[in-house]
Amino acid sequence: MSKVHNFSAGPGILPAEVLQQASEACINFDNLNLSLLEISHRSKNFEKVMDESRALVKELLGLNENYKILFLGGGASLQFAMVPYNLLRTDGTAGYINTGVWASKAIKEAKMIGNTLVVASSEDKKYTYIPKGFEIPDTLDYLHITSNNTIYGTQMQDFPKTKVPLVCDMSSDIFSRRVNGNDFELIYAGAQKNMGPAGATMIAVDERALGKTGRKMLSMLDYQVHIKGDSMYNTPPVFPIYVSMLTMKWLKKNGGIDWIEKVNNEKASTLYSEIDRNSMFVGTTAIEDRSKMNVTFIMHKPALESEFDKLAKEANLSGLRGHRDVGGYRASLYNALPLESVNALVEVMQAFEKKFA
Ligand SMILES: *Cc1c(COP(=O)(O)O)cnc(C)c1O
Repeated sequence: MSKVHNFSAGPGILPAEVLQQASEACINFDNLNLSLLEISHRSKNFEKVMDESRALVKELLGLNENYKILFLGGGASLQFAMVPYNLLRTDGTAGYINTGVWASKAIKEAKMIGNTLVVASSEDKKYTYIPKGFEIPDTLDYLHITSNNTIYGTQMQDFPKTKVPLVCDMSSDIFSRRVNGNDFELIYAGAQKNMGPAGATMIAVDERALGKTGRKMLSMLDYQVHIKGDSMYNTPPVFPIYVSMLTMKWLKKNGGIDWIEKVNNEKASTLYSEIDRNSMFVGTTAIEDRSKMNVTFIMHKPALESEFDKLAKEANLSGLRGHRDVGGYRASLYNALPLESVNALVEVMQAFEKKFA
């Protein structure tokens, strides 16, 4: 089987050795002669997985002892509702920055729960940039931001400076670069972009922020209930948590965030340089806001797209088509994608230019 270069935006690429270990655990986990999929989540063996997963998240994000780590079902989309439900006081206001479809979905849910203020938006230019220079009222209960906009290919290069607690959807760039986790009251990320398979969402929350809304809480939507239950109030998504743990171990073993940030910088600059050099393509976002995870670009002559797709397929490049809202192309350069795959894409872009320019 020849190697496929997997640029999928999500669920995204995982390290080959992690997939190997995960498949082994499906047959014989921890030498129990039982599958990970058929043992109790309250067994010692799985409790160890949960503890190690939590410890790795704290280490990779540099979180202090006030933070609790949860792995819940429902996707990042459930967090769009759980965040305001747990952090927005019944007489308070939550602030949001609207940088794309995911942010707008978060806003839609927050509005159902309480007062919501959209502090800034880039909807006017189809979300091709990150808003800057806006005022943040310091009375907000929190400010919700999306660090990386998976669909459009924009990324916050730094975070708003404010006294207001920050809440961040890091679904598509978690563990991709150095951030100070303690700058955020809450961070959440669906696993399937840069951490593991679909089915688990990681939530890191400063416990001191909880229990202040004045609202009666449904148990399954209450972070405090899940914290009290050590993220096992009900049966947790055991397999996605296990694979996320393996991916975090892989990251740590290879040199952690410092290592991956360097690799990610190199991959992104290699591809953006080619987009800027190549006469057939143009990037779709403001240059200063370019994402290092999702690189979006279009063709000057869209009629040639099928020709490019043919070359890409011959070179075993997969998952390059842009999101239906943007069109063109999107190359997702998640942690597990090697530089070699970016080089393969660049070669195809160059061959394409030679043939059709
Ligand atoms: C994919 C994505 C989501 C939605 O995740 P689900 O797990 O499908 O609910 C939310 N936010 C961002 C930034 C994403 O990339």
